[in-house]
Amino acid sequence: MPSLFPSQTALGYAKVAVERGVDRYPDGLTYAIPPELADLRSGERVMVPLGRGDTTAGGCIISISRETDLDPDRIKFIRGRDASSAKLPGDLIELARWISNYYCAPIGMTLAAMLPAAVKRNIGAVTKTMLDLGNPLPLEVKLPPKQRAVLEALASLPPEKRPIELSALRELAGLKTNSPIRRLLDRKLLDQQQRSTVEATWAQHATDDFRPDSLTAKQQQIIDKIISTLDKGFSSHLLYGVTGSGKTEIYIRLIERVIQAGKTALMLVPEISLTPQTGGRLIGRFADHRVAILHSGLTSAQRHQQWALVANGGAHIILGARSAIFAPVPGGKIGLIIVDEEHDGSYKQDQAPRYHGRDVAIRRAQLAGCPIILGSATPSLESWHNATENGKYALHILDERAPGLRLPTVKVVDFAEQARAHHDRKVHLLGPMLEGAIGRTLETGGQILLLLNRRGYANYIACPDQTCGWVMTCDHCDVTTVYHKSKRLATGGFVQCHHCLTEQRLPSQCPDCANKVTTFGLGTQRVEEEITNKFPELVTGQTMLRIDSDTMHGAKSFHDALERFGRGDIRLMLGTQMIAKGLDFPGVRLVGVINADTALNLPDFRAAERTFQLVSQVAGRCGRGDQPGLAIVQTFNPGVPAIRLAAAHAYTEFAEIELSERRQCNLPPYSRMARIVVRDAELMKCIAIGKRLAEGLRSLADDSQRIRGPAPCPIARLSDRHRQQVEILATNASSLQSLLASARSAGMIQPGASMAVDVDPTTML
Ligand SMILES: [Zn+2]
Ligand SMILES: [Zn+2]
Repeated sequence: MPSLFPSQTALGYAKVAVERGVDRYPDGLTYAIPPELADLRSGERVMVPLGRGDTTAGGCIISISRETDLDPDRIKFIRGRDASSAKLPGDLIELARWISNYYCAPIGMTLAAMLPAAVKRNIGAVTKTMLDLGNPLPLEVKLPPKQRAVLEALASLPPEKRPIELSALRELAGLKTNSPIRRLLDRKLLDQQQRSTVEATWAQHATDDFRPDSLTAKQQQIIDKIISTLDKGFSSHLLYGVTGSGKTEIYIRLIERVIQAGKTALMLVPEISLTPQTGGRLIGRFADHRVAILHSGLTSAQRHQQWALVANGGAHIILGARSAIFAPVPGGKIGLIIVDEEHDGSYKQDQAPRYHGRDVAIRRAQLAGCPIILGSATPSLESWHNATENGKYALHILDERAPGLRLPTVKVVDFAEQARAHHDRKVHLLGPMLEGAIGRTLETGGQILLLLNRRGYANYIACPDQTCGWVMTCDHCDVTTVYHKSKRLATGGFVQCHHCLTEQRLPSQCPDCANKVTTFGLGTQRVEEEITNKFPELVTGQTMLRIDSDTMHGAKSFHDALERFGRGDIRLMLGTQMIAKGLDFPGVRLVGVINADTALNLPDFRAAERTFQLVSQVAGRCGRGDQPGLAIVQTFNPGVPAIRLAAAHAYTEFAEIELSERRQCNLPPYSRMARIVVRDAELMKCIAIGKRLAEGLRSLADDSQRIRGPAPCPIARLSDRHRQQVEILATNASSLQSLLASARSAGMIQPGASMAVDVDPTTML
């Protein structure tokens, strides 16, 4: 075959991970480098011809070499750089290779997931020019009136209003053009700085109110220990500190050290905790430094700005949710990685590449050769096991709250018993104890958080005739649907599937026997209704707020709501787990858990662990001021360890019980798991694919691996596709990885639309 570009000579060869590429080429596809792109480096994004039709595809260079083993005449040439000028640092390419291998995800897709879309498409890469007074004006200089007006306008501003945006300054000085400002810049009488709009927004929330007068001896001890590891390469630390024990202060002191040493600190928090509180506190403490904040609430332009700020080495601190672990910090600059609330479920990505942000963070710290701190009041059992049983992590414990703060009293209430105490036949979601406590807290000026981890009004729509037994399920999924009330609709409400989000009308009668349907079960809307009836003063005073994904639209409305709560405008906040995490409001004296059992009965071996975490975390939101806190936990299962021990603040005891059960059943962390879900519109085909996969895996497996399935997933049909699962349990990570690798290279595992591979799965539905 003749050369495709006979007139060109290759200057070398590049392996390109093509975004659309399939899983067959884990090291990328080979392309020739044309002379005009002689300066291409690995990590850069390029456009290449792909497939028979040579359609143009985007990808990332993962390595460059002078030679190739392939026939040079058959190698296509790179077409050029793409629109972005993005370049990934070398350790991120290494990290992508690791993720692609470990989590069975195509390398091109993995690299693509590391870059925000706005960076790839090069949109919105703008920063704002901010202006401030520059050198003092020498006495002998006579300025033209317009330039003088600019300086006077700036000087009239109070210091916290400076620097000021170019357009605002122009307006303030009454100018029609920028030229007087430009002249002043040339003469260095004005100073210009580039700031991203995100920094400008978050600066409004900056606060230094949380700085404690002094550290406790425990805090100081832990700080000293970790500081002694800062320049000694990779080390991993688990910081187990009860809620309100001052973990953040430890992070802040360590970050100070890292910045002093000229390095960058990278801190991950769960998406939902990325509140103005967390961001404002860091920005407030590091007022002279630049903090890049990365979270899903940013516009694409803002995302691009923050990415560029990090890539240019301008950020001293990076604070962000899961994907911030891919922040393009220039090589050798990362001095410390912190994963706060390391147990949190939002660190696991639920679509390919299905990576766990905490585990990727550990890998990144290894590549960067720096310490990593995992912090939590309720460490995941994996991390606890690593810190206590196999010595992989150094364990640091803060078992008391900061001076002056006590852990809240937690009362567990038997829901069944409380229901009997009501002498009417109505359904009460607030038992007498919780209702009484709400009343007293309102009277004495405290604030209240109420948690119910289920949105909507009622999660069952059914026929009242038990012999009929009809329950409304989604047309597209094998799940029951949820009734939502809505004032906007003439019908008063609608029915929604919480999995595929399809909406339907509420049927008036049972399709099988024509009885009038009833709705029952719990939902935040129903709790809201009950509170409205029992505490009407909250409604008339507009001091109650419901927080769930139906009432909150984006990060901004959530942040605004938290601010109103922080100011005390809101007295009672009711919501899903959005309110269970990371909030620190001194006014909260009562926390109520409407039903602690929502996660307990899920078909998932982590159900008990989740329940323990949720109850402990939400209870920990109260008693952070000078008044003691009370948490009331309603449950049908008052005796189960997850609830009983969460109420007793007995994490270590819970961990011991739960770990011994996991050990007996050979479940993680005593084994490693991968879950493969196959999906097909046709049930028989789906089962057949599942069977073939399971048989194939069994033929490759040895004694260290066990294959379970195929079996229908707990949700056996989702969005019109049937789902069968095959689970691999292996004695350790390397055994699991070697089986996955052989199955992948044999073509048995093909991650894509019809097969999802989840390594170390955290949800089993
Ligand atoms: Zn559905
Ligand atoms: Zn019926």
